Amino acid sequence: MKSIETKFRYALTGFLLFLSVFAIAQSKELPRVIILATGGTIAGAGVSAERAGYTAGKIPIEDLIGTIPAVKKIANITGEQVASVGSQDMTIEIWKKLAIRINEIFAKNEADAIVITHGTDTQEETAYFLDLVVPSERPVVLTGSMRPSTAISADGPKNLYDAITVAVNPNTKGRGVLVSFNEGIYDAREVMKMSTTKTNAFGSPNTGPVGQAYDGRVEYYLRSEREINPKKPVVITADTKFPRVDIVYMYADAPADQIDMLIGKKVDGIVIAGVGNGNFNKAYMEAVKRAVKAGIIVCRASRAPSGRVVLHDEINDDELGTIVSDDLTPQKARILLMLGLTKTKDKKQLQELFFKY
Ligand code: ASP
Repeated sequence: MKSIETKFRYALTGFLLFLSVFAIAQSKELPRVIILATGGTIAGAGVSAERAGYTAGKIPIEDLIGTIPAVKKIANITGEQVASVGSQDMTIEIWKKLAIRINEIFAKNEADAIVITHGTDTQEETAYFLDLVVPSERPVVLTGSMRPSTAISADGPKNLYDAITVAVNPNTKGRGVLVSFNEGIYDAREVMKMSTTKTNAFGSPNTGPVGQAYDGRVEYYLRSEREINPKKPVVITADTKFPRVDIVYMYADAPADQIDMLIGKKVDGIVIAGVGNGNFNKAYMEAVKRAVKAGIIVCRASRAPSGRVVLHDEINDDELGTIVSDDLTPQKARILLMLGLTKTKDKKQLQELFFKY
């Protein structure tokens, strides 16, 4: 006969075993999220809490995840350090590395969703680049922060937590790459850094945010029409070589020397950040003619933060031999042109890309 004490011990062990199996089963059921860290202010460390100055990309991803212990209740998180740069130093090589790793993660079913921590300066460019080369329906969400981890009211932990809630939300699937920032959710194609220092740094001037993340809840109001065709224009491999596309800014009485310099450098494409409806002065007009004659694809964009550049409006693009960016900012038009030029130099086909993506 077993004593009551032994029976109680057996029962307790059984119960504890049941609890741990239940806990493991539960944590297995949580969505798997891989955080790909690239640096930026979110991983920045300053000299003191009250000073804004800091060095970007100092804090490793494990420490960042450690700032939001509550996240363990909503996802199984692992982190990978892909780069440690301030995003002003973002490169096409890092974009390539990110794209290849993301496509591998989804192809091998290593995660249900990906969050990317990234500096804010070029976050919109990375988001749009990835949007154009990641064919998966699974969520990819970028975030960052405006204040370094050492600052009073650092915004990084909250932004990271929100980005994870966005990534694991079932309604995020099939929306393409998103930016989650300061409780707003933004489409990669539309998002733009709007403030140099404020914590509500991002906006989408043409469309507004697609949704919001608040208190662990995610609500969507809009879906980008450009996501309806999920076929991506370009497949990236380790051998993909990107043509050189530069941006030239237009301003009152601008001389065209920069365009001529780029013709001399034999670049593949030039995006003009024109005034208003993608306009430029007579000096630029003549230089653009020279660039087109040299076989360079010239795309008219605008330095205005919203609205589209209309084909054959004040400028006859057919006569001039130019294409237009539609409503892409110059920095995003440059990315689409760069990717398009990996496939074709045909102006008609390149123009189509701008109306489709
Ligand atoms: N310069 C920083 C970066 O883009 C700014 C930030 O992350 O907010 O990495």
